[in-house]
Amino acid sequence: MRIRMARSKASRMSSLPTVSRALAAGGLVPLEARILLAHVLGRDRSWIAAHGDADITREQATMFDALARRRRNGEPIAYLVGHREFFGLDLEVTPDVLIPRPETELLVELTLARIAKDTPACVLDLGCGSGAVALALARERPRASVVGAGVSPAAVALCRRNAARLGIANAAFAVSDWFSSVPTEPYDAIVANPPYIAVGDPHLSEGDVRFEPCAALVAGADGLDAIRAIVAAAPAYLVRGHWFAVEHGYDQAERVRALLLGAGFVDVQSARDLAGIFRVTRGRRELIRETLC
Ligand code: GLN
Repeated sequence: MRIRMARSKASRMSSLPTVSRALAAGGLVPLEARILLAHVLGRDRSWIAAHGDADITREQATMFDALARRRRNGEPIAYLVGHREFFGLDLEVTPDVLIPRPETELLVELTLARIAKDTPACVLDLGCGSGAVALALARERPRASVVGAGVSPAAVALCRRNAARLGIANAAFAVSDWFSSVPTEPYDAIVANPPYIAVGDPHLSEGDVRFEPCAALVAGADGLDAIRAIVAAAPAYLVRGHWFAVEHGYDQAERVRALLLGAGFVDVQSARDLAGIFRVTRGRRELIRETLC
């Protein structure tokens, strides 16, 4: 009897989950397994790497298994852990918003180069998503007032939560269909990361984008519906001589430059992201409108 009890206790002990057993059972690439287990345990990844033998509770193992299964089914890591880093900011993200992309940091960098550090400025971010762009600009330019506009009330609520949690007070967010409900003041800079993928693009059925909100990704037959609408309206909201910048798809730079030129922007140019792809196009509102007579 005593022997049987001791054996069953021993076998229970040997099946107690540990960090490395959980990682191995997850069926994920090691980095992703470590990110998810770190999230479940409330630890960082370096702790996970250094504590393979550490015991975890059965509840933690079960939670990890559930997340690992969702990941194996394709759900993005950022939605599973509920946050993503962008421009040094730890942002909460939910399936209501696009997951911030590293290439979008280019839009922030180019815009920061046009906003003086020590003077007040009004900046508008159209299609604010998680608040990534607006909050990065606001944090880097504390004297600027940044307005983020998004059509989804859930996204705008998320932006406000991110601003509050990060203690960024100079960014405000409005539920607005592009310019429809934003303050009309002329802005010193306008930026946008709108949807720009074409309906039916095969890219939409691969990877993370399958789980992201369609309205944040897809914009008409050629992907340019949102950019067309924004570019046409933007000059009226910009201080003369000031800059508008928009992110776009890998093969859209030429067409977006044509749209900006058609709307009267000058000094129109496209910039490459770190992968060497023309990713952002910008232009300046002309200083003096030429009159035809
Ligand atoms: N860059 C994203 C992608 O291709 C799309 C982002 C967007 O539509 N603004 O997945």
